[in-house]
Amino acid sequence: MSAARKPMMMGNWKMNGGLQANQDLLRALRAVDCSAQVRAGACVPFPYLSQAQAEWQGSGWAWGAQDLSVHDKGAYTGEVSAAMLREFAVRYVLVGHSERRQYHGESDDLVANKAKQALAHGITPIVCVGETLAERQAGQTEQVVKRQLAAVIHVVAHCVSEMVVAYEPVWAIGTGQTATPEQAQVVHAVLRTQLSAATDRAQTMTILYGGSMNAANAADLLAQPDIDGGLVGGASLKADDFLNMISTAQALTA
Ligand code: PEP
Repeated sequence: MSAARKPMMMGNWKMNGGLQANQDLLRALRAVDCSAQVRAGACVPFPYLSQAQAEWQGSGWAWGAQDLSVHDKGAYTGEVSAAMLREFAVRYVLVGHSERRQYHGESDDLVANKAKQALAHGITPIVCVGETLAERQAGQTEQVVKRQLAAVIHVVAHCVSEMVVAYEPVWAIGTGQTATPEQAQVVHAVLRTQLSAATDRAQTMTILYGGSMNAANAADLLAQPDIDGGLVGGASLKADDFLNMISTAQALTA
């Protein structure tokens, strides 16, 4: 983590939650105001955006969505537009999460256009990139993440510095197998170098690590110079664990 960048700790609830459980979680998190040192929030399922808004409006916590459509409106059954997200004051949206690339066939081009659509509507895309285990074992990690990021850089052009990037090795997501801090730092540095070629503001950009980050491993990951925070799945569903990770990030800014 660098003093030049305010850390971000973003939860990804994936397809989890329920009105009562959400209320408990949103209120437990809201009770802690960490906004002076950390940008904290959660990307929640679409139906719960209004609940997150109602519970968190006026707090330092930010809510986001997990996907959006590339289209503005029309005959796209099941899709949710950026303008709809804006009506719920959504600040962030995940694009290109590996689960969407893997289970919904999202291509690099589609992901790039989703990022562009978010930016055009004033929503910060959190662009997820990451290699599979087979790609890592084949020595292709750098090539894969650079290809995924290049597609987005090409499409969003002069808005590159307005997005957030998340490095999420696919083999580490939901598996309990975290990248070592050194493995993650190597890729984060590669991504920042790539961003530097596209924008003179790369040093101010946020690059998150995601993949089985938890209260036990957060400190070592966040201590790396190019890791600016976390995209946290499972551990963000437990208020105590997530708050613990946030205080770790806070402590590193002190
Ligand atoms: C994620 O869903 O983006 C993620 C990193 O999940 P987990 O923390 O559960 O591995």
